[in-house]
Amino acid sequence: MLGAMQDFDLRVTHLIDHAARETGSREIVTRWADGSETRTTWAGIRHDALRMTQALRKVGVQPGDRVATLAMNHSRHLVSWYGAVGVGGVLHTINPRLFDDQLEYIANHAEDVVLLYDAAFAPIIERMKPKWTTIKRYICFDNGEFEAWIGDEDGNTTWATGDERDPCMLCYTSGTTGNPKGVLYEHRSTFLHAITGLQPAIFDFDARSVMLPVVPMFHAASWGLPWAGAAAGIKFVFSAVNDAAVLCDLMNREKVTHSAGVPTVWLATFKHMDETGTTLPTLRQAIIGGSAAPRFMIERLMKAGVNVAHAWGMTETSPIGTTGAKTWDWDDRSFEDQVTIKQMQGRVPFGVELRTVDLGDPAKVLPRDGQTSGALQVRGPWVIKRYFKAEADATDAEQWFDTGDVAILHPDGTLQLTDRTKDVIKSGGEWISSVELENAAMSHPAVAEAAAIGIYHPRWDERPILVVVKKAGAEVTGDEIKAHLAKSVAKWWLPDAVEFVAEIPHGGTGKISKKDLRDQFRDYKLADA
Ligand code: AMP
Repeated sequence: MLGAMQDFDLRVTHLIDHAARETGSREIVTRWADGSETRTTWAGIRHDALRMTQALRKVGVQPGDRVATLAMNHSRHLVSWYGAVGVGGVLHTINPRLFDDQLEYIANHAEDVVLLYDAAFAPIIERMKPKWTTIKRYICFDNGEFEAWIGDEDGNTTWATGDERDPCMLCYTSGTTGNPKGVLYEHRSTFLHAITGLQPAIFDFDARSVMLPVVPMFHAASWGLPWAGAAAGIKFVFSAVNDAAVLCDLMNREKVTHSAGVPTVWLATFKHMDETGTTLPTLRQAIIGGSAAPRFMIERLMKAGVNVAHAWGMTETSPIGTTGAKTWDWDDRSFEDQVTIKQMQGRVPFGVELRTVDLGDPAKVLPRDGQTSGALQVRGPWVIKRYFKAEADATDAEQWFDTGDVAILHPDGTLQLTDRTKDVIKSGGEWISSVELENAAMSHPAVAEAAAIGIYHPRWDERPILVVVKKAGAEVTGDEIKAHLAKSVAKWWLPDAVEFVAEIPHGGTGKISKKDLRDQFRDYKLADA
């Protein structure tokens, strides 16, 4: 047919070109670990990324090579994202909170050739260097080393070109068992994900937005913010330390309108606000994800006039799966109802499809009736087909990714997570949601953290116990907690025991590690077992 549209590969370097061209003087602010602050712009980030591309070529980096980072959030880290993809490389953001054997595994499995790191992580580098077999060049972001390295270059070069299906980024996800798995993002998937992120229900960005991302750049691609932020030409405010006092101070001085972080971050922020009387008058969009946001958190933010985007996603979904997109009857709902809706995991943007299947029979697709819970599956242009280095197999054709989450789908499209498939507790053939027990326990004023696990029971197969960390100075008994739970869950869901501990184990991304908790309670005997 005569007539055609232009060739325009959906490569992520277009994002930084756009930001530098359209909003070149928009600021990128960094508050460094030593308390100093620097300011650059989107044009400055692009220029430095071009210089880094030249420096990478000089050390022999080829398109497809993996360029790794081990760093907190700051402007040089942002430069390295665009520098790594600019040379046609694959950016590999390593999580410094992982254990040594995981760090050893992922850098070797990824075959990283260059590693850029924060001086704060130098002890990790010293420890791991003898074990990392493929890294040829280490560059520190601090002490003038990074600047000196790109300082010899003039930025007079062009980005690598290629196919939009080329890989551009690699993130590892540490599952509950086995080695971490690599998720390889493509230019095209990342580009489409970036555009999707601009929607009001997701990041709600325009050129006036000022975003302080607390979610680290090594966690699920920082939810795609460094890409989407460029597409909108927003102002970024980075902090290389995650301290609530520092974050609140920055938010107020830089007039931050948007922030994003896991629930723990917001908890720490609230605590600081309560202790000091600090308020955040400029904040209007709070993106919360990674684990379930408790009701009081959503309520408090909404009462302060902040829009809450409670998001569900995974490293395997780039990571946007759903956010707190309003239902069509939102305006007719009471405030209480609105909070209840936000407490669920929201609705998909165009592009993402969800379905649930029977936990025992995956061939059976379940109704979206707001009642039936099942194994959650997802598909879409930024959802994983297979893990890095995994061979193609028959499941590729299905194009449905098993999330490992258990969920209920509502008729209005709302997703309600009820558990992880590995964490649901099966008692007498019926499922008990550990998440619902935890949410109910967390609403008790004396509870700082709670986790429910299943313990072997000769009659019921499994019965739940609840492991609780009390708030500092608070006193509460197991029976009082059970009485509190009884207000919101069925009687047969009530835990057989409540165990108080000083600490609940967490994994590398800050989430509760049920596997470690189960290990801790492996020899636990129930009173009637
Ligand atoms: P990760 O790949 O480390 O980001 O972990 C993804 C997993 O985190 C998901 O499969 C969920 O189990 C959990 N998760 C993410 N967002 C939420 C949320 N809003 N509520 C509850 N769980 C969540």
